[in-house]
Amino acid sequence: MWYTHFAVLLTLPFASPSVLNARNPTNCTSPPASEGSCQQACETLASKFPGRLHYKEADTNFTIWDQKQLQTIYVCRVEPVSAEEVSQVLQVLVDNWCRFAVKCGGHSRFPDDSVSVGGVTIDLGLMNTTVVSDDHTSASIGGGALTRQVFAALDPYGLASVAGRVGQVGMGGFALGGGTSVLSAKHGWALDSVLEYEIVLPNSTIATVSENQHPDLYYALRGGGNNFGIVTSFKMTVFPQGPVYTGSRTFGDDQTDRFLEEAERIFTLEDAEDTNIGLEYRYSYSAALNRYTMSSTQRYAEPLLNPPVFDALNAIPALSNLTGGINSLANSTSFSGPLGQTRYVFARRGGERQKAEHPRPVKSANAIVGIYSPR
Ligand SMILES: Cc1cc2nc3c(=O)[nH]c(=O)nc-3n(C[C@H](O)[C@H](O)[C@H](O)COP(=O)(O)OP(=O)(O)OC[C@H]3O[C@@H](n4cnc5c(N)ncnc54)[C@H](O)[C@@H]3O)c2cc1C
Repeated sequence: MWYTHFAVLLTLPFASPSVLNARNPTNCTSPPASEGSCQQACETLASKFPGRLHYKEADTNFTIWDQKQLQTIYVCRVEPVSAEEVSQVLQVLVDNWCRFAVKCGGHSRFPDDSVSVGGVTIDLGLMNTTVVSDDHTSASIGGGALTRQVFAALDPYGLASVAGRVGQVGMGGFALGGGTSVLSAKHGWALDSVLEYEIVLPNSTIATVSENQHPDLYYALRGGGNNFGIVTSFKMTVFPQGPVYTGSRTFGDDQTDRFLEEAERIFTLEDAEDTNIGLEYRYSYSAALNRYTMSSTQRYAEPLLNPPVFDALNAIPALSNLTGGINSLANSTSFSGPLGQTRYVFARRGGERQKAEHPRPVKSANAIVGIYSPR
C-alpha cells in the first residue's frame, strides 16, 4: 500500500510529454502488431552487442539473489557498458514495443523487479567501476556497481561511501531507494550522498542531474527507484573511513521482548552520544526448524572491539556466542554466498499482539519478519 502511493506520488509530476515523449503512444496496453516484438529486439541487440546478448535458454551462468527471479523467463539479457549503450538498448526496446527490466545487484525479490517477465533484462553489471575524484571528496560509481566493488575500490584510498551492509547489494537499487548503511548514523542515507546522477531518460537521451541541473528530477530520484530513467552513474560523497567493528548474535524467541527493550534503548540514544553505533536485527521464522529466532548484528564505525554500548544486549542469554571482530568494510563485504537458492518474503510483524505486549510506543517492536524456506 505504502509502496504504491509512494510510486504514484513520485511518478505524476514527470508523466508529462517533456520527459515521456519517446513515442507518444495513444494506446499503452498493447503494441500494434506491425511494430515488432522482444524477439525482434533481441535479434537487433545481438547484432549490436555481440557476446553481451544472452538468450534465456543459453544463459546458464546467470544467477541472482532470489530464486523467484532466477526462475523468471525472459527472452534475452543484454549487458551494456556505457550510458551511450544503455541509450541504444532503450531505443531498440522502445522501437520494438518490448517490455524490459533493469538490473543492478539483483537484490529484489519478485519477477519483473529486475529480471523481465517475457521481455529483456538490461543488466548493468558490467558498469561497475568506481573512480575517485582528484580531491578525494567524491567518486563516480557505475550504475551497475555492487557494494563490495565500491568498498574494494575505495579502501586503498582509506575512503568509504554510504553503501549496503551486504556485498552483493547493488548501488543502483540501494541509492535510488534510499539506502541505509552501517555508516548512516554518521553520514546519512545513500540518497543524501548523491551529488549527481547520469541518467538515460525514457526518450533515450542522456542527462546529468544535480541540485542545479534538472533540480526537480534530482529531487524525484532521491527515492524514485526506476520510475524516471536508467541511472548509469552516481557521483557520491566519499569520506575517510578505517576498519569497523561487527558482532553477530542469535537469540531464542523467549528473549525477544528483552531484546527489543534493549534495542529500543540503543536506538533512542541521542546522536550527540555516539554516531558510530549501529544495530540491525532480523526476526525470522524457519519452516525447517519450526521456530522463530532473533538474530542481531552489532556495528561500531571505529576499530573498537566489543563496544560497551552493547554490554547489556550481550548479557541476554543467547543461542550462539558473540562472533565477529574488527575488519575493513572491503573485507567484511567481500564474501558472496551462493545465490538463487532461497525464496524470500518479507512482512511486518505488528497488530494486536504487539499492542498488548507493548502498550507504550516501542519503535523497535516493528520487527521485519523474514520468512524463508530452503529449496
Ligand atoms: C540481503 C539483503 C541485504 C540488504 N541490505 C540493505 C542495507 O543494508 N541497506 C538498505 O538500505 N537496503 C538493503 N537491502 C535492500 C536493497 O537495498 C534493495 O533491495 C535494493 O533495491 C537492491 O538493489 P539492487 O540493485 O541490488 O537490486 P536490483 O534488483 O538490481 O534493483 C532493485 C530495483 O532498482 C532498480 N534499479 C537498479 N539499478 C538501477 C539503475 N542503475 N537505474 C534505474 N533503476 C535501477 C531495478 O530496476 C529494481 O526495480 C538489502 C536487501 C537484501 C536482499
